[in-house]
Amino acid sequence: MATGFLTDTTVCIGCKACEVACKQWNQIPADGYELTGDSYDNTKHLSGTTWRHVAFVENPKKGRLTGDVDLVALAEDVREQLPGGAELDALGRWTFMSDVCKHCVEAPCQQACPTGAIIRNEFDNVYIQPDVCNGCGYCVPACPYGVITKVPEDGRVFKCTLCYDRQREDLEPACAKACPTNSIMFGDVEELESKAEERVAELHGKGYTNAYIYGTPEVGGTGGIGGNHSKFILMDEPESYNLARHPFMPQDKVAPAVAASAVAAGVLSAVVALAFRD
Ligand code: SF4
Repeated sequence: MATGFLTDTTVCIGCKACEVACKQWNQIPADGYELTGDSYDNTKHLSGTTWRHVAFVENPKKGRLTGDVDLVALAEDVREQLPGGAELDALGRWTFMSDVCKHCVEAPCQQACPTGAIIRNEFDNVYIQPDVCNGCGYCVPACPYGVITKVPEDGRVFKCTLCYDRQREDLEPACAKACPTNSIMFGDVEELESKAEERVAELHGKGYTNAYIYGTPEVGGTGGIGGNHSKFILMDEPESYNLARHPFMPQDKVAPAVAASAVAAGVLSAVVALAFRD
C-alpha cells in the first residue's frame, strides 16, 4: 500500500502544531525565533531542519483595511456574506499552507542520488537512508520544490520521512496526529485522492470554485511529476504557496540544452569558416 498526505489548506489555521510535532518526534533542532520580516513566520521554508513548514500567505491583491474601520460591523458583514468566497476575498485574507516533501511518484532527488541513499521504502515513500548518504548534495538542486537542504553541522541532507518509524508501529505521522483541524490527513494514497475530490466538490458547491487539487494531474489538479503522494487542496495559484506550477525532471532539460549547444557550435563554425574563406 502506498501511503501519503492530503493537506487541506482551507481548514488550516496556521497554528504550526505540525511543525512542532515534527521537530519533537524527529528530534530536529529549532530554527531560531526571528521573524522573517515579510510574514509572521520564523522557519521561512522547508529545509534539512524543517520538514513541515506552515506558510503564512497574505493576499494583498485582494485589498487591505485602511482608515477607521468598525470591526464589529465588518465582522457582521463578513458573517452575512458567508459562504460567498468572492465577497469575503474582497476584504483581504490570509491563507495558510503546511508544506512538506511531495513524495513524488518519479522522484528527481532519488534519480540524482549517486549512492542509492534515497530509496522508496515499503510504504512507497521517498526515504533518505542517513547511513548511506555521503552529503554530495546532488539531490538538492534536483528537487523542483526546494525540499531538501544540507544540514551544515552534519554534512548530510535530510527531509520528511513520512514518520517511517511511526508507520512501522501502525501510528500516523506526528504532524497529522497533532493537527487540531484535521487539515493534515494521512493514509492510503488512493483513498486520499477520493477524499480530495469529494472535498473540492463540496467547496465548489459552497461557491469556492477556485478550490483545486495540487499534485494529482489525473484528477484535474496541477503540478506533480507523475503525481505526488503528498497532495494539497489549494484556493490560489500554486506560485502563491511557492509551489512549482510545472515541476520537471532535471534530465528533461538535457535534450534542449544539447540541441542549443549544437546550434551554437554550428553557427560559430560557420562564422569561423566565413572569416577564413579567402
Ligand atoms: Fe524528492 Fe523533492 Fe520530490 Fe520530496 S519533493 S520526493 S525531496 S524531489
